[in-house]
Amino acid sequence: MHVLSVGSEAVPFVKTGGLGDVCGALPDPLAKRGHRVTTVLPLYRGIDRTRHGITDTGKAVRIHMGGKTVTGTIWHSRATGHDTYLIGCPAYWDRPELYGDAAGDYPDNAERFSFFARAALSLCLELGLLPDVIHNHDWQAALVPVYLREQPGVYGALAGTGTVQTIHNLAYQGRFDNAAREALDLPDRALTMAGLEFYGQLNFLKGGLMYADAITTVSPTYAKEIQHEETGCGLDGVLRHRHDALTGIVNGIDTALWDPEHDSQLIARFSLAHPEARKANREALIKEFGLSSGTGPVIGMVGRLVEQKGASLLLESLEALVRMEVRLAILGSGDPHLEQDFVQAARKYPGYVGLVIGFDGALSRRIYAGCDLFLMPSRFEPCGLSQLIAMRYGAPPIVHRVGGLADTVHPYHPPHARDATGFAFNRFSTDALLACVGQALSAFGKAKVFERIRKNGMARDSSWAQSAAAYEEVYHKTRKVADMRLRERLHPDA
Ligand code: ADP
Repeated sequence: MHVLSVGSEAVPFVKTGGLGDVCGALPDPLAKRGHRVTTVLPLYRGIDRTRHGITDTGKAVRIHMGGKTVTGTIWHSRATGHDTYLIGCPAYWDRPELYGDAAGDYPDNAERFSFFARAALSLCLELGLLPDVIHNHDWQAALVPVYLREQPGVYGALAGTGTVQTIHNLAYQGRFDNAAREALDLPDRALTMAGLEFYGQLNFLKGGLMYADAITTVSPTYAKEIQHEETGCGLDGVLRHRHDALTGIVNGIDTALWDPEHDSQLIARFSLAHPEARKANREALIKEFGLSSGTGPVIGMVGRLVEQKGASLLLESLEALVRMEVRLAILGSGDPHLEQDFVQAARKYPGYVGLVIGFDGALSRRIYAGCDLFLMPSRFEPCGLSQLIAMRYGAPPIVHRVGGLADTVHPYHPPHARDATGFAFNRFSTDALLACVGQALSAFGKAKVFERIRKNGMARDSSWAQSAAAYEEVYHKTRKVADMRLRERLHPDA
């Protein structure tokens, strides 16, 4: 099968979070199963053309956008071993950030990503690609199935193509003021409740959810959670309506990219069979973060400093954690207010709260490899990759038991470690968090128990193999739906 993967981020070209990891990692395991994956990305300013061997194909797409024509140049790279096409358009992508700056989201995001969706489809026509399935990621690509169906005059050649919409995080929906409709060139019916309309606004993700042949999200538990009012971010009704088309598939990690045995960023490399060198990473981490000496564990945290990740919950718990002699090594960036609160906490608890504000891939690896435990107290978590990486690097995670965290971390139930890979708490409260950390500390004090938990995590298969098989199944189903749709269109009375 030929799958066109359309998303706004993909490793190694550009990444701000898990979306980039997933779009970058999926092509390999799908190719191993005999499929061809072509990726489409915006050519942002920050993408290094030389490093990724990106060349101009000399071809272009021209998109009619609310009365003007915008040209997208088509660039190509084989850096990943698969085809990646990057759509050049300096007016939209030549900016310091991907989606917005300190002042907020870029005001023309609706126009930018409407262009992106149309350019991805037009690129197929221009290059003569006829994918079997187009796999769209998050709101930035969610208009692809909408245009495919609503502009048959333009995209008729792709009418038999199946579409899959993946929700990586339902909290980000691409909601815009109704005024943005001018730039979209969609017929009125696409802007009603049966399409993008959402409480008087336009909602790109909702469009994708209404029009796609199949919907996936990144863990089975999250697939259930988002159908409930409290956790459905306003789209629970839509998701219940499309319940039959919705599948939860847990993310994997690229186990070649995330491998403590071959990770050149580590002070010393180690593996499940030879874990001894892990100690050197731990000592280096303690030094690097200026942590005090002690016998208790070092708890690592890597992630966006935002409410979703439980940043406030952690701030509220810090004093008690310090009293428990816990030392923290935190790397993150995000909400400026929360960043500021963490900076103040680091000043208040020197030696206990080590902090680096920023996005630093190499440092993140040193944290995964050096910390004893990894904290992920997310309020909600569609899947989460950090806990998978932490387990592979020998740091049992402490998690709030929601979404993908519930699906991937087997909690320790004292006294036996058995198949436990980490620690989990159910209620989103400081008390529950502290009790769970207390449980982790007590396990840390029992060398045999802790080693078993650590080893269980390192041995866990977090590769993409199983998930790729599950996506393949969704693609096959999608093809059937698309074939039926095409037959109905060609023979409406049959
Ligand atoms: P999300 O996509 O919600 O941010 P995930 O756990 O799914 O969270 O994925 C986060 C990915 O981004 C992981 O690979 C993690 O290591 C990485 N990451 C997050 N914050 C940072 C940071 N400040 N520096 C380096 N890597 C980071």
